[in-house]
Amino acid sequence: MEWTGGCLCGSVRYRADDAPHWASYCHCGMCRKISGAPFTGFVEFPAGTFEWLQGDASQYRSSDGVTRRFCGTCGSSLTFEAGGMSFISLGSLDFPEQVVVERHCYTKSRLPGIELTDGLPQFPGPVGGKGGRPID
Ligand SMILES: [Zn+2]
Ligand SMILES: [Zn+2]
Repeated sequence: MEWTGGCLCGSVRYRADDAPHWASYCHCGMCRKISGAPFTGFVEFPAGTFEWLQGDASQYRSSDGVTRRFCGTCGSSLTFEAGGMSFISLGSLDFPEQVVVERHCYTKSRLPGIELTDGLPQFPGPVGGKGGRPID
């Protein structure tokens, strides 16, 4: 199955050959700023399955070793890249409802008033990989 996505204005598009192998919601302050949303979601596609199809995403180095790509025209947040891995913004997928999200991370930064009732595991800080291995 092919997975596709892109920005709001349609100038930047991407595809992947395979389903994401994991997905998380992130409640950290930087994701909140760059997306303008109370929290975000990211998916990781298996290595070598993701490719850009059109457009050149703008990039911003949000912290040491972390690059975030976004559409320079419409501002849609597209990727978070760190440690040789690329995480794709869940909301930029054409069919994000097909993604099974595994967990919430950075819940220590969750906004007050957001109640998580989906029963997914919650991690106060960062996690990565399938199954929720904590990242130091
Ligand atoms: Zn755009
Ligand atoms: Zn985050």
